[in-house]
Amino acid sequence: MLNPADTTFAERLTQAGIKTRDATPAYTHELRGKFVGKSTIVALPNSTDEVSRVVRLCNDARVGLIPFGGGTGLVAGQVAPEGPPPLILSLERLNTVRAIYPDENTLVTEAGVTLSNLHAAAAEADRLFPLSYASKDSALIGSALAVNSGGLNVLRYGTARELCLGVEAVMPNGDILHGLKRLRKDNTGYDLRNLLIGSEGTLGVITAAALKLYPQPAQTATAFFAVRDPAAALQLLTLFRERAVDAVSAFELLSGQSFAFLTESHPDLRQPFETPPLWAVLTELGTGPGIDPDALMADTFEAALEAGVATDARLAQSGQQRAEFWAVRETLPEANRHIGAIASHDIALPLVEVPGFLDEAAQALPKLFEMRINAFGHLGDGNLHYNIFPPQGATKEAYKDRAAEATRLVHDLAMARGGTFSAEHGVGRAKTGDLQRYGDPAKLAAMRAIKQALDPNGIMNPGAVLPL
Ligand SMILES: Cc1cc2nc3c(=O)[nH]c(=O)nc-3n(C[C@H](O)[C@H](O)[C@H](O)COP(=O)(O)OP(=O)(O)OC[C@H]3O[C@@H](n4cnc5c(N)ncnc54)[C@H](O)[C@@H]3O)c2cc1C
Repeated sequence: MLNPADTTFAERLTQAGIKTRDATPAYTHELRGKFVGKSTIVALPNSTDEVSRVVRLCNDARVGLIPFGGGTGLVAGQVAPEGPPPLILSLERLNTVRAIYPDENTLVTEAGVTLSNLHAAAAEADRLFPLSYASKDSALIGSALAVNSGGLNVLRYGTARELCLGVEAVMPNGDILHGLKRLRKDNTGYDLRNLLIGSEGTLGVITAAALKLYPQPAQTATAFFAVRDPAAALQLLTLFRERAVDAVSAFELLSGQSFAFLTESHPDLRQPFETPPLWAVLTELGTGPGIDPDALMADTFEAALEAGVATDARLAQSGQQRAEFWAVRETLPEANRHIGAIASHDIALPLVEVPGFLDEAAQALPKLFEMRINAFGHLGDGNLHYNIFPPQGATKEAYKDRAAEATRLVHDLAMARGGTFSAEHGVGRAKTGDLQRYGDPAKLAAMRAIKQALDPNGIMNPGAVLPL
């Protein structure tokens, strides 16, 4: 692979009218500080046509490239510490919402629009774009599709994949795939949209997408429930589903350790319970006109108390309190960073396996070394962020040689129960070893064949998903 900083190549980019800059740490340093990419240059195209020109130049000159969004990815898909430095192809200037079709409940957007800006654009048309998570102000929709992000509302609305009707993309040879159809039915051969979604920039650059919108819920109710254990949390989910059916949009699990970390890192943050419970659930109901979600919430709490499933609850009494409740959940990643994780995991399990996994892991892991565990996440989707921290007073650096064995055990236990080692963050470069270890051989062979067929020169995000 040629270095993109090679003067002839850099000149070709300039001659093609492509704006470039030197990569600052914002482009090369992953947020958790675990991976640092090599010094390189950034191409800043401002149209699909310009993206196509950049990719074609890279393919002709054998220059590797990394499609780059907001840089918030958690598996190092966007930074390359190993191998020749690739060109960073930033989508940040493709930041226009092209059109909104409220009567169809669809929207067409360029890849560089942040999730927050999509929420605002949809809300202006009295619609909801439901894909949301704590990094929503920086994460771009093109990357959210590239990693098939999940987040807080998957339970009701699905992952990024399920919200996408069509994509426009630049293929590894520079060809533009014109797939922006706003159709809910289109059975016309291989589904390249679904191949590109989740491919983490290894098969093409997503430049625009046609997305699904939903009606804004007329009313919302948000509440924290204290539960004795994760099994009770799942019983609570069943109670909600029986009563509220499709109205449950979020069902987030927090552990007692989550609250303790928040107290330690953000002492001024308002917490819902005076005494932190052993486990808690943050849930939200969104209903259409005529159905009172507060009454539904209160009614479910009563049933949960009676059944011994919940021990306490706090219902948000105002918009401000609702925001405070969500701030508790959304500050958690920052609190974890403040404490300093030895190892973080993004696993998913079949719902009924979650309590058993949590019990088994809590028994097995501390046999490796003394640790604190913060297990939390999108329980409604069976998705846990299972993070391991040093004991009080110790630093993560002192345990850096033990991280791999802890991760191996967490992933082994999850896989043994029919789970996955990556639920919503992708494989990136951090989990290529896991994919090789746990991946189905027929799937891995098909993946390698697809990569070779579409990207024979291996220029697209080299070393991500499939090892170099
Ligand atoms: C505090 C915090 C909370 C988070 N919570 C969640 C959560 O709840 N759920 C969740 O799913 N994720 C979560 N994430 C992870 C992350 O924010 C998402 O994966 C996000 O979608 C990445 O977007 P980005 O624009 O920052 O992508 P980047 O980090 O820039 O890129 C991510 C990957 O996508 C590829 N890529 C980028 N743009 C394109 C493109 N246009 N075409 C093809 N490939 C491309 C990159 O090469 C890279 O492999 C969280 C992250 C943080 C920091």
